[in-house]
Amino acid sequence: MLYPLKLRPVYKEPIWGGKKLREKFGKDIPSDSTGESWEIACHANGTSTVANGVLAGKSLQEVLDTYGAKLLGQRIGDKELEKFPLLVKILDASDKLSVQVHPEDVYAFENENGELGKTEMWYVIDAEPGAQLVYGVKPGTSKEQFKQAILEGTLEKHLNFVDVSQGDVFFIPATTLHAIGEGLLIAEIQQNSDTTYRVYDWNRVGNDGKPRQLHIEKALDVTDFSDVTDREKTEGLSVEEGENVRTYLVACTYFATERVDVKQSSREQLDGEKFDIIMVLEGEGKITYAEGEEMFKAGDSFLIPACMGNYDLVGRCRVIKSYVPDIAADIVQPLQKKGISSEGLSRIGGMGEDS
Ligand code: ZN
Repeated sequence: MLYPLKLRPVYKEPIWGGKKLREKFGKDIPSDSTGESWEIACHANGTSTVANGVLAGKSLQEVLDTYGAKLLGQRIGDKELEKFPLLVKILDASDKLSVQVHPEDVYAFENENGELGKTEMWYVIDAEPGAQLVYGVKPGTSKEQFKQAILEGTLEKHLNFVDVSQGDVFFIPATTLHAIGEGLLIAEIQQNSDTTYRVYDWNRVGNDGKPRQLHIEKALDVTDFSDVTDREKTEGLSVEEGENVRTYLVACTYFATERVDVKQSSREQLDGEKFDIIMVLEGEGKITYAEGEEMFKAGDSFLIPACMGNYDLVGRCRVIKSYVPDIAADIVQPLQKKGISSEGLSRIGGMGEDS
């Protein structure tokens, strides 16, 4: 019988990292320049391992190889059974990340040895005063002007900077130019891909004293130059469930994410069709299920196997729950039953977009 799998993360130490993962969540990070915690990862560049129960020590890939659809759900396709579909991280940017863009699936498949594209989203866990990020190209910028500015080192005038506060949500379809700014702690949910085209690195050098590699031609191939300012922040749709509040943040082809604010207990439905990923942002408590319970605290991430059935989040806490959705069955129909209009649904990031 599978149970809530608490995953031990993989840490990365890029030049822009910091120490908030320890300060905020008590994580055992390797240095004060730890920028990424790959919380739920099953990728050649990093795979998390099970921290609890009889499967402790197994990699997520080993668990997937053994349990297949029992882990991921009946709905999942052969593609996902071979390759875990999602990658969930926490990013601590004490300095800016590079300005970058990710390709769509078709371009990545053809140009990156069968890799996936990368659509992603950010949930801002913490933001220092004045923090900003880059979302898209400034409206009116042409591809030619953009290319010229890269060559001249004057790209900043073409970047759309956005002010950021705690709790903000950004949905970033593949081909949207983006950069996380300094002073941000962010939960990132994305397709399981590590394909990044770096456009501009703020004239910095890497740990080896040399500028990090840029991928300008590929970035120009894939970047969306249309006006994206109308979707730069995602409002989300909040629904009261008794004394709890569930906020639907993003729902796209690849993933859906909800924030659940739990006062005492929240029932989460799991019917064997899909798996859930639970990341605890605040508070503590336990996951109770038919055969037992698992304690949690802020900063913990769990993979809830599809075959486990319904479970409860017990305790005063704020979590984000991510899964691979059937948009009609998991989101549109249940919300319509509650009387939510199509205007309400449109507040959910990615709804109606063909990403
Ligand atoms: Zn990115």
